[in-house]
Amino acid sequence: MSGAYCIQMSELGGPDVLKKTQMEPREPGPGEVLVRQSAAGLNFIDTYFRTGLYPAKLPFTPGQEGAGVVETVGEGVETLKVGDRVTYLGQGTYATHFTGPASRMLKLPEGIREDEGAAVVLKGLTAWMLLFEVYRPQPGETALVWAPVGGVGSLLVPWATSMGVRVIAVTSSDEKAELAKKSGAADVIMSSDDVASRVRALTDGKGVDVAYDSVGKDSAKASLDSLKSRGWFVTYGNASGAVEPLAPGELNRRGSLVMTRPGLFHFVADEAGLKRGAAALFGAMRAGTLKAQIGQTFALKDAAEAHRAIESGKTIGATLLKP
Ligand code: NDP
Repeated sequence: MSGAYCIQMSELGGPDVLKKTQMEPREPGPGEVLVRQSAAGLNFIDTYFRTGLYPAKLPFTPGQEGAGVVETVGEGVETLKVGDRVTYLGQGTYATHFTGPASRMLKLPEGIREDEGAAVVLKGLTAWMLLFEVYRPQPGETALVWAPVGGVGSLLVPWATSMGVRVIAVTSSDEKAELAKKSGAADVIMSSDDVASRVRALTDGKGVDVAYDSVGKDSAKASLDSLKSRGWFVTYGNASGAVEPLAPGELNRRGSLVMTRPGLFHFVADEAGLKRGAAALFGAMRAGTLKAQIGQTFALKDAAEAHRAIESGKTIGATLLKP
């Protein structure tokens, strides 16, 4: 197919290993569809595969979420037809085309654009997982949220706030602090401050019920120090590097804390989980609780530039790649 291409890496390394490479879109097998992609979402996890923090089998096309229009339908597919607008999780979405199982594709509801789908499907399902499947905070509880205006954070904060949760956000700049407040955070702490002391001061010394921590290495100790007795340490990302090992006795010493390290794919591996998450996410978007926050858009061929941007820590909301 003329013009079809993907972004491929044949070695691990910096952003420059990401190269535009011609490809022949794979014809859909039984139960699959071929999608012409309108956009692929960039996620921090893509950088982990690029650097080797997570294992990638080379040559490797990064990308875990996308959206587009169904172009060809494989044998036996009854749920989708040519022209349907879909969004999905999948491996290798940095491409003009994506072939995958129809059972994993989510039809985009009326009123949600394809680029919005690509901006929310992975990040929004992650926010759903954290708030509804991992630790469901009750109205009146307090949550510490790191990177509150990033891809996941810009959905997590308004969603938690809409549930009656008091969000204390931690971020790195005044501009981001302002945005976090606008999206519902009750208080914002600078990551350069003594975060745990500030949290204690803001909670009458009690600490928070839950910490949703995506920063990892640089934030784990402050999250643990910010929790109340029997609080939940939900460590779900490594933006600053992998979290150091923690002895179980530490959790006891700090007040019988619960620590969990969830990964979205375990929560949406079966169709029921995926559909449940999608219903919650699209429902929250239709209700106006959540809006896709597209902060940056790059041409697909400029994926390396997009990686540099997300790794700089300066991006806001979702970052998209468009063919
Ligand atoms: P973000 O858009 O949130 O970007 C990362 C943010 O982390 C930055 O904007 C910055 O926010 C903060 N940060 C702190 N330290 C650093 C650092 N050293 N380098 C870069 N950024 C830093 O990314 P995503 O929304 O794509 O992902 C957020 C996190 O969630 C990632 O760690 C990702 O791996 C994780 N994740 C986990 C999933 C799971 O299933 N467990 C699924 C999806 C994402 P600030 O300036 O506010 O500090």
